[in-house]
Amino acid sequence: KVVTRFAPSPTGFLHIGGARTALFNWLYARGRGGTFLMRIEDTDRARSTPEATQAILDGMAWLGLDHDGEVISQFARADRHAEVAHQLLAEGKAYKCFATQDDIAAFREAARAEGKSTLFCSPWRDADPSTYPDAPFVVRIKAPLDGSTVIKDEVQGDVTIRNDQLDDMVLLRADGTPVYMLAVVVDDHDMGVTHVIRGDDHLNNAARQMMIYDAMGWDVPVWAHIPLIHGPDGKKLSKRHGALGAQEYQIMGYPAAGMRNYLARLGWSHGDNEFFTDAQAQAWFDLNGIGKSPARFDVKKLENLSGQHIAQADDAALQQEIEDFLAAAGREPLKHSQKDGLKAALPFVKERAKTLPELLEKAHFILTNRPVTADEKASKALDTVSRGILTQLTPQLQTATWSRDSLEAVLNEFAAAQDTKFGKLAGPLRAALAGRAVTPSVFDMMLVLGRDETLARLEDAAA
Ligand code: GLU
Repeated sequence: KVVTRFAPSPTGFLHIGGARTALFNWLYARGRGGTFLMRIEDTDRARSTPEATQAILDGMAWLGLDHDGEVISQFARADRHAEVAHQLLAEGKAYKCFATQDDIAAFREAARAEGKSTLFCSPWRDADPSTYPDAPFVVRIKAPLDGSTVIKDEVQGDVTIRNDQLDDMVLLRADGTPVYMLAVVVDDHDMGVTHVIRGDDHLNNAARQMMIYDAMGWDVPVWAHIPLIHGPDGKKLSKRHGALGAQEYQIMGYPAAGMRNYLARLGWSHGDNEFFTDAQAQAWFDLNGIGKSPARFDVKKLENLSGQHIAQADDAALQQEIEDFLAAAGREPLKHSQKDGLKAALPFVKERAKTLPELLEKAHFILTNRPVTADEKASKALDTVSRGILTQLTPQLQTATWSRDSLEAVLNEFAAAQDTKFGKLAGPLRAALAGRAVTPSVFDMMLVLGRDETLARLEDAAA
C-alpha cells in the first residue's frame, strides 16, 4: 500500500514549490488508493512558528489537498528519534564522540595543510569505552569507510556517491537532542512512508539518510527528487518573478482546480494533455512523467487553465468558491439578492473568464443596483443620439415576449427601422444595463434582469 507525505518546515507561508510537492504526493497516493500524510518539520525551534503551520494548513485546505490522519509534529517525536540513536549506539553502529569544536578545527587545519579531505574523522570511532572522559559528547553514526552509496531515484536515475564523501554524521547533539536528518528517517519509517517525493535540494540528504536506513536495517522508501521550479527566465523562482505564496493565487482569484491542474503540469506531463480533472490527474499521475529539468513558471498557461476550469465548474461549487474568494481577498461579501443574481448569471458569465475577479466583472450588471453608474467608456456610448434611440426602444420592449428569440426579433426589427445594425444598438444597451462597455451578451443580461428591471435601467439611461 502506497503511503506518501508532505513534510514542510513551518517557517513561512505555503510556497508555490511546496504546494507542488504536496500535490504530487497527494496525486500519487490518491490515484493508488494510498494514504497521504502530513508532517510538520518543526524541530528548528527558533524558526518554526504556529502561525506558519496554520498558514501552510490553510494553503493546503484552499488547494483541496486533504491529508489522512492527524498532522504529525516532528518536534513532539524527539524522544523517539533519540531512542533510535541510542539503539544504534548499543549495537555499535554509532559511537560517542568527545571531540571539541577546537579538536575538529585543528583536524581540518591539519588536513588542509596536507591536502587531504577535511571531512572530520573522529578518533573516538573505535575508542575503548574505558578511555571515555567525563565530558560532553555527541553521538555519531559510523559511516561506511569504502565503496559507494547508490540512491535509486525515480526521477534522477541512479545517483552514486562515494562513501569517502560521507562523514560520521552527528545523530544526537551534546545536549541529547536529535538532528534533523535522523528525525526525517525515523519519522518516515515509523509513518510507513513508501514513497518520498520532494525537491531535489534534498538529494544530497538522501545519501546521508540512507546510512541511517542501512544501520537500522530498514527498507529504504522509493525516492523521487523533483527539479525545483524556475522563473520564465530560467533562474530559480524568486520574488522578482511574482507571487510565491500559494494563497496569493487564491487572492488573485485563480480557482483551486485550475491551480491544481497548473501545478501538476509544472514538471510533470501526460502526453499532450494540458487541461484535466482531478480524477484524470489522479489516474494519470506517475513518477515517469516527471521531467528531469526544472519547469518554468508560466502565468499565461495558468490563466488559460484557470479559465477552462471556471468555464467547466459546477455552478453551485463555483458560487461557493467565489464567496470564499471574496472573503480571502478581503472584499465585500455578496448580499442575498446578489447571490441570487449571480446564481442566475453564472451559466454564461463563467465562460471566458480567466480568473474569479474577471468573472465578477462580467457579472457586474447583476451585482449592481439602479441607478447604474456608467464607467468612462460606457458613458461615451450614451450620447444624446443613443439616449434618443433608447427612448424609442423602450415601448417596444414593454410588449415583447420576454424570451431570447422574441427579444432578438424585436431588436433586429428596431435596428432595421432605424436604418442601423444591431451592433450599433449594443453599445448603448450595454452602457444602460451594465454601466460597462464590455459585458455578456445583451440578451443574456436582459433575460436575467427581467422585463421590469431592464426597462427601468433603459429609462434611467435615457433620462
Ligand atoms: N522539511 C523539508 C522542507 O521543507 C522537507 C524534507 C523532506 O521532504 O524530506 O524542505
